[in-house]
Amino acid sequence: MSDGDCIFCKIVAGELPAERIDGDEHTIAFLDINPWTRGHALVIPRRHTKNLYEIGEDDLRHAAVASKRLARRMRDCLDCEGVNLINSCEPAAWQTVFHFHVHVIPRFNGDPLRLPGSPLKIDAASLAAVAAELRA
Ligand code: AMP
Ligand code: ZN
Repeated sequence: MSDGDCIFCKIVAGELPAERIDGDEHTIAFLDINPWTRGHALVIPRRHTKNLYEIGEDDLRHAAVASKRLARRMRDCLDCEGVNLINSCEPAAWQTVFHFHVHVIPRFNGDPLRLPGSPLKIDAASLAAVAAELRA
């Protein structure tokens, strides 16, 4: 249910401070301590699971529903012009805290966030090859 070494479990338990902004039976939401934009928040399941590979489908659904609720709240209360949802799974994908979380990031025209990558140059045969691998 919880992991004694996990900072997000400690936030759920009230043992570490956080700017909580939403919560329900299954999730809590709080502001990211190093925000990328004004209002950048994290939605987490109360139950500890490491990441997208491990999370139960019910907790994933609850986190998705809570993320939608928060996105609409950001639109209505912060007047943001858009929202990004980001989830990172494993260090290769930038995960640094190993308790599943969704970044809910309000976006404002002209804010400093930029896409972190650019499209690969890939031909049709390579596209077909990777599609075949993924269908297997
Ligand atoms: P990720 O790198 O996707 O695993 O995201 C982890 C996020 O947690 C980072 O954006 C951190 O700024 C944020 N974070 C780490 N510790 C805290 C904390 N105590 N309270 C709020 N956010 C935190
Ligand atoms: Zn945890």
